[in-house]
Amino acid sequence: MRGVLDVLLGAGYQAFIVGGACRDLLDGLKPHDWDVATDATPPQVEACFAERFRLLKQGEKHGTIGMLSHDAQPWCVEVTTFRSETTYSDGRRPDSVQFVRTIEEDLSRRDFTVNALALRWPDMVVIDPFGGLGDLRRRLVRCVGDPQARFGEDGLRLLRAVRLRAERGWKIEKDTYNALGLQAKLLKKVSRERVRDEFARVMTAKFAAAALRDLVKTGLLVRFIPEFQESINFDQRTRHHRQKLDEHVIETVSWVPERLELKLAALLHDIAKPRTFTLDEDGQGHFYGHNKLGAAASAEILRRLRFSREVINRVALLVKEHMFIYGPQVTDAGLRRLVGRVGRENIADLFELRRADIVASGGMPDPWLDKTWDRVAEVIEGRQPTSETDLAIDGNDIMQATGWEPGPRVGRALEMLLERVLQQPELNERRRLLAELEAIKGQVESTTHEVIKGQPESTTRSSDREG
Ligand code: ATP
Ligand code: MG
Repeated sequence: MRGVLDVLLGAGYQAFIVGGACRDLLDGLKPHDWDVATDATPPQVEACFAERFRLLKQGEKHGTIGMLSHDAQPWCVEVTTFRSETTYSDGRRPDSVQFVRTIEEDLSRRDFTVNALALRWPDMVVIDPFGGLGDLRRRLVRCVGDPQARFGEDGLRLLRAVRLRAERGWKIEKDTYNALGLQAKLLKKVSRERVRDEFARVMTAKFAAAALRDLVKTGLLVRFIPEFQESINFDQRTRHHRQKLDEHVIETVSWVPERLELKLAALLHDIAKPRTFTLDEDGQGHFYGHNKLGAAASAEILRRLRFSREVINRVALLVKEHMFIYGPQVTDAGLRRLVGRVGRENIADLFELRRADIVASGGMPDPWLDKTWDRVAEVIEGRQPTSETDLAIDGNDIMQATGWEPGPRVGRALEMLLERVLQQPELNERRRLLAELEAIKGQVESTTHEVIKGQPESTTRSSDREG
């Protein structure tokens, strides 16, 4: 990093540490990436570094050249020529950039005062034309210049303000905060990928819950998750929930560990409650099926926001299963079935979500949940069979032993064998399963009809038996 700054200086150019790195250094934190500003033009920057580093040039027309070191501990520095942005006809990207002569002009195009600071190399003099140091001390996110105009130029800044607040626990300055609400509509001009990236950072930040309250109050959240509107101020009318639904889910977010899928599942786990609401004679609210409908809605929301297939599937699964039954009434077989359905890789997250859900409902942590978790841990540590892939025989073995062709009978036999093994894990040996197969073969044959050629096979499996 020093090396990059020294090379620029040695070649007769100016060099400043800017952006998040400058902000973090002045705040006493360790920067996680480095932004450098210089008066050298992109070709001049290239000439300085082409032989030393691998250069990343996708940002070149905006004046940015990335540098990757070949060290054992790889690092990346972005060097950007002093620039100003001209017009934003679409509110997304500057139509063009203009290179400028001074660091002050460069700082004036930046979004927030704490991001419009620079440290001059090598004497580390602070360049602070917009009062960023004061705001850093007061822990305030404030736009450079007129907030409404700045958000008008690039709608993503609306979320960047909330993200800074989410990461640091800072407050958003009053005029900037009011402008968030007034300009919330601009978010629709921002590409979904950019919204997704900032939103993901908000969700996994330390102060995600506080930031979510701001996203709700300013009307920003419903710009990209309109489905959330019905949850705002929704009264659940049950003994178990003291707060309104939006506050309950935000509190749930605050109680789960800082992992993206868990945070998203916490936010979306009750998204279908308003739609499934019914009242009984005692005036108690019920929400039958809200977990399944909620899983579908969550998948749709996350697909629209362009989250990865993996994230979407895991969140939908957690939402779908979040009402699982626990406590003394659950049998060992029932627990194994739950682990099989949810997957060993997701079961811990599911319990985290449930624990948070309970605490956020105004309750105490439920000791039965922890006792049930101890039993799940035994299933996992003991490598007990929980799904068809754990069975000591597979479909080929079944076909060989019975002479059946591939088809629904094989699937049905696997299902029945798994059911037996869930009840009695010690049956899961090749020899014993083949004997078991011999015993159930007739029953499978008489109850399973071969599909007529050309018709699709049934794809239903043994899911959803529990809760
Ligand atoms: P972090 O590195 O923690 O994400 P950062 O502040 O460095 O935070 P970057 O996206 O790396 O964020 O941007 C570097 C700098 O570029 C910012 O500090 C800010 O000065 C400026 N900047 C980035 N995006 C915008 C934007 N949309 N509008 C105005 N200035 C921006
Ligand atoms: Mg940065």
